[in-house]
Amino acid sequence: MSLSEIKDRIAKAETEHGRAPGSVQLIAISKVQPEARVRAVLEEGHRVFGENKVQEAQGKWPAFREEFGPVEVHLVGPLQTNKARAAMELFDAIHTLDRPKLAGTLARLAQEMGRCPDLFVQVNTGEEDQKSGIRPADADEFIAEARKLDLPLGGLMCIPPVDEEPALHFALLAKIAERNGLGGLSMGMSGDFERAIAQGASHVRVGSAIFGERDYG
Ligand SMILES: *Cc1c(COP(=O)(O)O)cnc(C)c1O
Repeated sequence: MSLSEIKDRIAKAETEHGRAPGSVQLIAISKVQPEARVRAVLEEGHRVFGENKVQEAQGKWPAFREEFGPVEVHLVGPLQTNKARAAMELFDAIHTLDRPKLAGTLARLAQEMGRCPDLFVQVNTGEEDQKSGIRPADADEFIAEARKLDLPLGGLMCIPPVDEEPALHFALLAKIAERNGLGGLSMGMSGDFERAIAQGASHVRVGSAIFGERDYG
C-alpha cells in the first residue's frame, strides 16, 4: 500500500456511503516506524499523523515540524496524568480521554495554559477488562462531566475487540456520539477503515497499511 492508495480508498468509501468528499480525516499512525518511512510520507505532503506514546512523539515531531512546517500530531495511546502537560504542549488532539482523573488534570492544565488540544473520549465498546476507556453505560455521564469542566470535546474514539465484527462497535460509538451531540468519530484502522467510514467515521487511524508492518524487534 501507499499513502495515495489509502487516500483513494477513503475517497471511494466516502462516495459509496454517501459521505461528503473530504469529510474523513486520515491520521497516519507513525508509531514505531523508521524515520525514513515517516519522512517519505511527509515528503508526499501529508500533514496529519498519530502517535501512541508521548515520549516517542517528543523525540520525533519537534524536529519534523522544524523541517516541514506545521504538522498536526494526534495522541492515540493511553495518557498518564504525569505526562499530561507534555502531551498538551505537543499534540493537536488527544483521542484517549478515558477516565475522570485525566479529565480533571486536563481541565486544570487547560485553565493554566489557556489552550487545550481537541479531545476525544475513548469508549470501551467491547467492555474488555484489558482495554482502557469509558464503558458505554457510563459514557453519557462522563461526557456531561467533561463538559462541565469546559473541556473541548470533539468526539468519541474506540478500538474494537480484535475478534469481533468492528461494524457493530462503530455503530454503537456513532449512536453514543449522536445522542450526546458530538460530531467527531475516531474509528477505523488499517483493516477496517472503510467499514468505519460507512458508519460515520470523521477520523480514521491508519498505520501499517501506509507505512508497512511495524517492527518491534
Ligand atoms: C497502532 C494504532 C493504530 C493503527 O493500527 P494499524 O492497524 O497499523 O492501522 C490505530 N489506532 C490506535 C489506537 C493504534 O494504537
